[in-house]
Amino acid sequence: MTLRIAVPNKGRLDEPATEVLRQSGMRFERTLRSLAVPVANLDLELLFVRTEDIPELVSEGIVGMGITGLDLIEEAGLPLEAVLPLGFGRCHLAAAVPANSHVQAVEDLAGCRVATSHPQVTNRFFAAKGVAITTVPLRGSVEVAPRLDVADAVVDLVSSGSTLRVNGLRPVVTLLESQAYLIRSPYLPDQLTSLATQVTTMLSSVIGARSKRYLMMNAPTAAVESIARLIPGLAAPTVVPLAAEGQVAVHSVVDADDLWRLLPALSQVGAGGILVLPIEALIP
Ligand code: AMP
Repeated sequence: MTLRIAVPNKGRLDEPATEVLRQSGMRFERTLRSLAVPVANLDLELLFVRTEDIPELVSEGIVGMGITGLDLIEEAGLPLEAVLPLGFGRCHLAAAVPANSHVQAVEDLAGCRVATSHPQVTNRFFAAKGVAITTVPLRGSVEVAPRLDVADAVVDLVSSGSTLRVNGLRPVVTLLESQAYLIRSPYLPDQLTSLATQVTTMLSSVIGARSKRYLMMNAPTAAVESIARLIPGLAAPTVVPLAAEGQVAVHSVVDADDLWRLLPALSQVGAGGILVLPIEALIP
């Protein structure tokens, strides 16, 4: 039985989603217009559809799994399981007002018209705060609404904040931190649960490996203790004797972010021939 996975066909999540699937070892040929693409080496089919349609397709069981943004999952408010954060498509949903607005805090938004393409999340957020607002649902170009005087504020997705600034808007409060998620249908047939778990494990291993590097170096045996203190590794570093007397090779997995600190420190305690390698997949 084939497991179908819904994948964004365009927009910000399209490329990174396709990339993570390929990196996990799925082999597929995607042509520009293809909607359903079989995975050559596994019993999987990728369905390329609009990012915002994916929560509904998964929730209704039309596909077994999907990749979409948490903001869209929350907006849909449908029963489905967000099984794995994927580490890309990071952004946050923020309320913002024109730079010269009197609004400083959430409570000051009481009575405001708020333009947004996320009316459900917006309504839920302000209702929970006890602040009465009116949403003005828009499909796109939310940030121009105050200038057109169709709204006093916006709730929009922000990553760098430059779009807000260009449109003369100032953020007031964050409603939601978002990133892409792997989601799973509540109607997944029993025959597909083990394949779905395999997909989750493989994607998780690719995501987990992205922030890690494999580190290899040679060192005098006497330096191993100081090296081990610097790089504890997943469990402990691997130490392999070399043909040269009193010399060993030390291997370990480290955080990519730590390299700037680690490499000079390792060199200082006597390590040499240091190599840094990418890791394709990692299952702790
Ligand atoms: P798109 O298809 O490009 O409109 O965006 C789809 C999804 O990408 C959004 O629902 C978010 O989950 C995510 N995203 C990440 N960064 C941003 C951003 N700066 N603006 C809009 N969407 C973003």
